[in-house]
Amino acid sequence: MEAAKSEGMRLTELPGIGERTAARLEALGVHKARDLVFLLPRAYQDRTNPQLIPAVTEGQFATVSGQIMSVSERRYRTRRTLEVMVTDGHGVIVLKWFRFGRWLKASIEKRYPPGTQVLASGRVTSFSGNLEMHHPDLSEPDTEKGGGVVPVYPLAEGVSQQTLRKAVRAAVSRLLSSVKDEIPEEMRRTYRLPDLAESLARLHEPLDTDDVQALNLGTSPWHRRLKFGELLAFQLGLLMRRRVLESRTSYPVPSEALLGRELIRILPFDLTRSQFNALEDVGRDMEKNVPMHRLLQGDVGSGKTLVALIAMLRTCEAGYQAVLMAPTEVLAEQHFRTISKWCEKLGPTVALLTGSVEGRQRKTVLAAAQSGEIKLFIGTHALIQEGVVFRNLNLAVVDEQHRFGVLQRLALGKKGSAPHFLVMTATPIPRSLSMVIYGDLDISTIDEMPAGRMPVETLIFGEGDRSRMHLRVSREVESGRQVYIVYPLVEETEKMELLAANEMAENYRQKIFPHLKVGLLTGRMSSREKDMVMEKFRRAEYQILVSTTVVEVGVDVPNANLMVVEHAERFGLFQLHQLRGRVGRGTNRSTCILMEGAAINDEARQRLQIIAGTHSGFEIAEADLKIRGPGDFLGVRQAGMPEFRYANPFRDGELMSAAREAAFRMLPVGGKLEPSMVEDVRRMWSEEVLTTASG
Ligand code: ADP
Ligand code: MG
Repeated sequence: MEAAKSEGMRLTELPGIGERTAARLEALGVHKARDLVFLLPRAYQDRTNPQLIPAVTEGQFATVSGQIMSVSERRYRTRRTLEVMVTDGHGVIVLKWFRFGRWLKASIEKRYPPGTQVLASGRVTSFSGNLEMHHPDLSEPDTEKGGGVVPVYPLAEGVSQQTLRKAVRAAVSRLLSSVKDEIPEEMRRTYRLPDLAESLARLHEPLDTDDVQALNLGTSPWHRRLKFGELLAFQLGLLMRRRVLESRTSYPVPSEALLGRELIRILPFDLTRSQFNALEDVGRDMEKNVPMHRLLQGDVGSGKTLVALIAMLRTCEAGYQAVLMAPTEVLAEQHFRTISKWCEKLGPTVALLTGSVEGRQRKTVLAAAQSGEIKLFIGTHALIQEGVVFRNLNLAVVDEQHRFGVLQRLALGKKGSAPHFLVMTATPIPRSLSMVIYGDLDISTIDEMPAGRMPVETLIFGEGDRSRMHLRVSREVESGRQVYIVYPLVEETEKMELLAANEMAENYRQKIFPHLKVGLLTGRMSSREKDMVMEKFRRAEYQILVSTTVVEVGVDVPNANLMVVEHAERFGLFQLHQLRGRVGRGTNRSTCILMEGAAINDEARQRLQIIAGTHSGFEIAEADLKIRGPGDFLGVRQAGMPEFRYANPFRDGELMSAAREAAFRMLPVGGKLEPSMVEDVRRMWSEEVLTTASG
């Protein structure tokens, strides 16, 4: 009863908070008094030890005390800054705000006119030799006595730090006793984690002796406790799903199948060690009657498709159906072509199902899926549409997994009773990231290229080298080979995009290479048009293919050994790596010329040099991740993935591993979680992702 009451305590029951302030706090995700207890300071001010301005160093989180010299607003071409100059008699520092509301400027002008004393805390940067702090926290040195280390809370428009501090303090003193630590004590001891209530108390009211740097960096033991709790809930969510999946039964598929072995025998090359290892992993998983959930990662061209095909053949031979789902029609059709070619020699029929398969043909395919007459299917999203029914789907392979969300994977799983899952990606991701995105999957990695594959020579050309580039293209064509010219399309509208691509193709056709046949491929074409163009290029009816990034995914033309990328700096690192993978497929020496635009800056140039300097997808992915951050890196946010408040799943890798280990201990096979812990998990994960028992 008591607990229930405190659980629901309203914000307005706290001192200093009226309806208006309460409404403003909503922006911080604070709805009830209890939410304030869990609202962590974003920084800490060390008021007892302000530093002398000349003593602060760039990159450090510092507090300085001084007198305001001026407050001014400056306008630059596209933005305004608010600049406040402060001196402590020893040096000068400029406080800067880049994006600011009227209210901030007004309140600074009112509270800190020139001549007043101010205490400013923030990270120190420097700009052409002058010290600066961007978006620092300000306070008057003499107000608010007590507590040398003071928390600074996230800003809500119109709510002062003083108001927020007072309210948090009140909320903490009334509600902290009702905060129970859901992590069992024994586990806390194992991972050296302080108690939750104690951690919250300390984060809101640190002692003067606490390490201010650690508090500001979020590495204090109390921060660790909050992060761990969140990561544990995340890992438990993944594990709960996994346990649901494991409780289902799929049909076991023997690895010792004739078709798979026959394929290996007739291949004109040997499988790599990595491919064999991956096959072994897959075989071991599929021999169980628990569905496999495995991620197969490997660089572009490392031969993932063959691994998938062998798994599909084994499934077929055991009497069940298997599908391979690709993200685009072009890619699905390419898979269909290569796989059909092999299967013709082996026996089983393969069917294609994409949006372009219509009418009678579609009916026939759907009927064969339902009757079980055909066992191998290749397709796109069309495979997961309603009305597609399989007789006994027992293996689902998803190619280029990062292009599909978790939920699409789930939809595919619903097409069978509990199919084995093999998802493939050419985006090799650092372990920290893979645990976030694929935490519920086991991972196999193909980390070597087929023998004889030569790395793509990568050159960086400037505008001045354009005629040299044209020369190389001509020579390549003269020697009977083909060339890709890739162009980034950044225009916003479809029309402009087409226009730009058309213009470029025309330019090549009429002015630069009037004697050559130039094809054009853009993302805006219908899949039929794309197909026709691709087919002509494959048959070498075009010598040059001018294209937008649509060639990025998996298209395979072994006779094309030169790729030119225009405005290479506009592409993501990893995208460039995938692009260049298109020409590294045969055993010929191949080349990728990165044309840098005239307006390139140093940073962009450095990025291009990373690409030119390494062929390891892992290294490039890692660099790309650092530069662009995880959201951009994947292109799209993964549907159904939870948000983190305290932890940074990409930086707190060690804690993430510990949390994973803890989750496995807390939820063994056949085990059950404490209901209160389950609640923590549900706060993070959507019900759909958590309970859908397939995928
Ligand atoms: P990805 O991993 O990018 O999907 P693919 O499976 O499409 O790569 O393989 C790329 C090319 O390499 C294909 O033409 C395939 O036949 C060939 N290949 C696959 N494995 C080997 C191998 N072990 N040795 C030589 N070539 C191989
Ligand atoms: Mg592939």
